[in-house]
Amino acid sequence: MRGLYVAAAVLAFGQAALADTPKVVTDFGPVQSLVAMVMGDLGTPDMMLPRGGDAHDFQLRPSQAQDLATADLVIWVGPEMTPWMARAMDSLGSGLSLPLLDAPETLTRTFGAKDEGEHAHEGVDPHAWLEPENAQIWLGLIAEALAQTDPVQAETYRANAKAAQAEVTVIEADVAAVLAPIKDKPFAVAHDAYGYFAAHFGLQNEGSLRMGDAAPSGAAHLAELQDLLTADGAVCIFPEANHTDASARQMAEATGARLGAPLDPEGSMLTPGPALYGDLMRGLARSMAECLSQQ
Ligand SMILES: [Zn+2]
Repeated sequence: MRGLYVAAAVLAFGQAALADTPKVVTDFGPVQSLVAMVMGDLGTPDMMLPRGGDAHDFQLRPSQAQDLATADLVIWVGPEMTPWMARAMDSLGSGLSLPLLDAPETLTRTFGAKDEGEHAHEGVDPHAWLEPENAQIWLGLIAEALAQTDPVQAETYRANAKAAQAEVTVIEADVAAVLAPIKDKPFAVAHDAYGYFAAHFGLQNEGSLRMGDAAPSGAAHLAELQDLLTADGAVCIFPEANHTDASARQMAEATGARLGAPLDPEGSMLTPGPALYGDLMRGLARSMAECLSQQ
């Protein structure tokens, strides 16, 4: 009888722990994916940006703002990436906020910089998940934030993060192998999201049609970019998922470059969940290599 009693108590405790899994809110796909890897079977983090939404430009519904306000833990890139979420953070109650870009461990770059220290336009580039070392660092930070919020499950979060870090190492190696043959091929992109990705994998990213994230393309900037792409013999111009490819098409025609498949650096069209981060990174590599490797 005693044994049965212990088993029942353990079961009751297990259910209580499940019910107590913290309510975790994230901003958009790549962060939700990393957090989902760390939470594993313990729970699923909410994501504020719906599939197909623009991470830079969105408006929370009142029910979402309420969801955010009552979270135990909010994990997000930060106000540089999602200003619409920053505005709602004022209403966060007793929950913890982990803006990943602000963490001292995070490797950051300046917008438009081609080399360390150089910058073409202002501000910290928030597209930092495209640096796989940041994914490694963030998995550790996410595990510690979850451990602080939910100490009972601390060791599970840490073990999940360790397994996820090993998975990111595999993703990084796969991406590097796909991109290795096209490292010397110049290209341009739709918006300035690829600084980390190009720097990490040694790619020839010549520039972007849009300088800022939501800013329209200035005529002077486009003329300058067109001259640069023509002079350097740019091979491909990549439009972006979830956006019209009209300006990329025009630039391709004007420079003689090929129009590549749309890239999805923010994972806006991908299925959310733990696999999204790998799908996003491998998808970028595949689309880039497919266009840039053509003769
Ligand atoms: Zn962006």
